[in-house]
Amino acid sequence: MRIADLYSRKTTLSFEIFPPKKDSELKNIDATLEILCELKPDFISVTFGAGGSANCNRTIEVARKIKQKYHVEPVVHLTCLSYSKGEIDEFTRILKGEGIDNILALRGDRSPEVPEKDDFHHASDLIAYLKKTGDFCVLGACYPECHPESESRISEMRHLKQKTDAGAEVLISQLFFDNQYFYRMVEDCRIAGIDIPVIPGIMPVINAAQIKRMITMCGASFPERFDKIIHKYEDRKEALFDAGMSYALSQIIDLLTSDISGIHLYTMNNPTVARRICEGIKNII
Ligand code: FAD
Repeated sequence: MRIADLYSRKTTLSFEIFPPKKDSELKNIDATLEILCELKPDFISVTFGAGGSANCNRTIEVARKIKQKYHVEPVVHLTCLSYSKGEIDEFTRILKGEGIDNILALRGDRSPEVPEKDDFHHASDLIAYLKKTGDFCVLGACYPECHPESESRISEMRHLKQKTDAGAEVLISQLFFDNQYFYRMVEDCRIAGIDIPVIPGIMPVINAAQIKRMITMCGASFPERFDKIIHKYEDRKEALFDAGMSYALSQIIDLLTSDISGIHLYTMNNPTVARRICEGIKNII
């Protein structure tokens, strides 16, 4: 099933998970998937580690489980900086063999530890290649507060338009805590002639240390209301959980009432978080 086809019919709810780091932990993912899949998401996306075939294998293995055992549609993330065309061909051949039709095509972060190859420099190169070589529904990433490497919102939009011109059919956003950034980005997209579904990525806060790490990595800013929650409750686990869930739910409800096309939840492999969010919107979405 092609994810892009869903959007003409409904507002979607989807989850993101990451594959376990060690092979020995792979069986534990079942307990997580069991609960996530009971919540009947429209799809579950599986992240892709930076470099190395072990990472690809675990992503594929988890995606296979989601599809075959739980009958939910997987979206496989795929980065390209450190892969050759031949390696991408091998990966997509396996995906086709598994009946997986949806790829979130990414450049991947630059890192001195992961050597880059010459075939792909930007996500748009991978998107064009996937559309040329296979019959995949390709999704791309977007950034409400701009990608940290971008010079300006204008250059960001030009490059985003290159991704959609290359064949991206859906965009999924980086996490953000202030919906105004998301609305501004969607408006910029429409002005730039990008008219595909743009799906907000929402990450409920459950752990102060983790969220601070994420913010440093992805550049999302803390609005004052959110900052107050972190400061007030960072040492009270349960209180932070409750306040973080309420914050995420208020973001989601604001987005849903603004007619966005779907919600993508960064679950951090925590099914309790996903369940609580689903309970909060069960009569809405
Ligand atoms: P690009 O679209 O290539 O953009 C990266 C930067 O290059 C931007 O500043 C852009 O404006 C600029 N740019 C693009 N095209 C050009 C051009 N032609 N000329 C000059 N500059 C250009 N990372 C992982 O390793 N694994 C994952 O599973 C993963 N999942 C993600 C899921 C989502 C929803 C998001 C938002 C990010 C994810 N990432 C993941 C992180 C992502 O790999 C990084 O943010 C990476 O730095 C950029 O990837 P991109 O696909 O957005 O790159």
